[in-house]
Amino acid sequence: MGLLDLDKIVVHRTIIGIRCISCEGSLLAIKTTFSARLTKLISFGKIKPTNYECETCKKKYVLL
Ligand SMILES: [Zn+2]
Repeated sequence: MGLLDLDKIVVHRTIIGIRCISCEGSLLAIKTTFSARLTKLISFGKIKPTNYECETCKKKYVLL
């Protein structure tokens, strides 16, 4: 990993330790989706889902 890669990680706030299931790419925190908001609403705010998107294949994940 070069210096450029490290810069990229800082800028995109890569979640360390969480990898894409499909391609093992880095997951980035993204804006809350409708389904995540709905989960929060149903759970009366007890569950606060965080959305992540794969940097490589753009697959979306919700972390509860
Ligand atoms: Zn992926």
